[in-house]
Amino acid sequence: MNTPVTEFTIEELADTIRKCQKCHLSRTRKMAVPGEGNPNSIVMFVGEAPGGDEDREGLPFIGRAGQLFTRILQSVQIDRKSVFITNIVKCRPPENRNPNKSEIDLCLPYLESQIALINPKIIVTLGSVPAKCLLNSEEAISRLRGKWFSWTGGIKIFPMFHPSYLLRHQETTPGSPKELTWRDIQELKRVLDTF
Ligand code: SF4
Repeated sequence: MNTPVTEFTIEELADTIRKCQKCHLSRTRKMAVPGEGNPNSIVMFVGEAPGGDEDREGLPFIGRAGQLFTRILQSVQIDRKSVFITNIVKCRPPENRNPNKSEIDLCLPYLESQIALINPKIIVTLGSVPAKCLLNSEEAISRLRGKWFSWTGGIKIFPMFHPSYLLRHQETTPGSPKELTWRDIQELKRVLDTF
């Protein structure tokens, strides 16, 4: 992790992100999506990158996957407004492809500054890209999810599946992505309730 910039407020940082042209995604995005939520949250959720709906509105997790994500939070009485939600890359990659390494490297300082400003106790990564990046791991998300990892500054990382993956795998049988996510969100809630 680089030395994050913390002389700004979270909103000032968001304004900087909205104007950012550090990488070529600035040429194809409609709006950068800095993230939103409670700047004092003890948990941050970090997805991969904005999709089409997010790109149009400048807000994170508002499309179909985002709506499912909100319902997952509600299922364990986590109010979406009480947490902070962002992505590892703040601008939409064309055709919703995964962000590549150079895009992630250029954008990561923004996430690092958000983490430094919010100072969460837990970071929940959603999907394979943020889990592999923050954990510096090549393990598949199916092996990382549902486990607790110690990270910089005493923060715990808890990887979960991305909600868009759950939309593509609707089954709820034991061991299915949805059933595993149900277990994961209950585990997250259990630990959040200890703070
Ligand atoms: S993806 Fe990140 S680094 Fe690239 S233009 Fe957007 S905010 Fe800047």
